[in-house]
Formats: sequence, structure tokens, C-alpha cells
Amino acid sequence: MYNSILVPIDISEDDLTHIVIPHVQTHATLNTTKVHFLTVIPSLPYYSALGLAYSAEMPDLKEFQQAALTKLDEIVKQFRIPAEKILTHAVTGSPKDQILKLADMINADLIIIASHKPDISTYLLGSNAAAVVRHARCPVLVVR
Ligand code: ADP
Repeated sequence: MYNSILVPIDISEDDLTHIVIPHVQTHATLNTTKVHFLTVIPSLPYYSALGLAYSAEMPDLKEFQQAALTKLDEIVKQFRIPAEKILTHAVTGSPKDQILKLADMINADLIIIASHKPDISTYLLGSNAAAVVRHARCPVLVVR
């Protein structure tokens, strides 16, 4: 049914990851070819706003990306999906923009995303989830 599922993961929010696991597993077994997991590292302006850019304290971007990918690989082990179906990605930038960009690049036919952080219950949709629902060109499963 699905050729390419995109699952954006906020690596700092284990609770959000846990709620999407059963949904991803179910859809991944329905003749899905590939499941792409993506984590987005906030952009460099964030670090420069902290006065860290260009200083010795500024960690190397590649190291950051590798660390994020390692953490994402650990998280993905919690999903019971055959290894040959899994691809992982770590990029920098705005989460919503990067999620939408990768969805286009991989021709995603389904995006599975958690709705918002559990402690921010006043909003039904977090800002990234809302932007993905609004702008994605494919079906989006919002898990709450
Ligand atoms: P909130 O505003 O409550 O934090 P978000 O819309 O940011 O809610 O988060 C909902 C979902 O968006 C997360 O479960 C995840 O799927 C996705 N998301 C948020 N931040 C990131 C990120 N940095 N990288 C990848 N996905 C993210």
C-alpha cells in the first residue's frame, strides 16, 4: 500500500516516540517498501544567538549530525520493523521545513507524526505537526 513512509522523530521527546510506535509498525507491515526516520537539529542561528557561533565552544556540525544519527538509530531499534526497510536521516534546519522537504525528496506517501508534547495540552497540534498537516502533499497520520 505504501512505498515510502516518513516518521519525523524529536530525539529529545521519548514520550512522543512511544505513542507513534504501534502506528508505524502497523503501517510498515502493510506492504511498505521503506520507512524513513528523520530527526532535525535546530539551525545554527540558535547557537549564534547564544553567542556560541565561531567560538571554541561551537561543536562541529558533522559531529552534531553524527551524534543525532546515532541517537536516532538507537530510538529506531524500539520499532519492530525489518532492518532492510529502514532508512535514517539527520539534518539541520527548521523541523517543519526539513520534514516537508524530505517528504518531497523521498516521494513520501504517508507521514506519521505525534501531535504535540504531552505537557503542552492547551494546543491540539504543535507548531511542527500543524505545519506538516497544512503543507504536506501526502496523507498525514497525526497520533494523539
Ligand atoms: P510541540 O510544539 O508540542 O513541541 P511539535 O509540533 O514540535 O509539538 O512536535 C510534534 C511532532 O513533530 C514530533 O512528535 C515529531 O514527530 C515532529 N518533530 C518536532 N520536532 C522535531 C525535530 N526536531 N525533528 C524531527 N521531528 C520533529
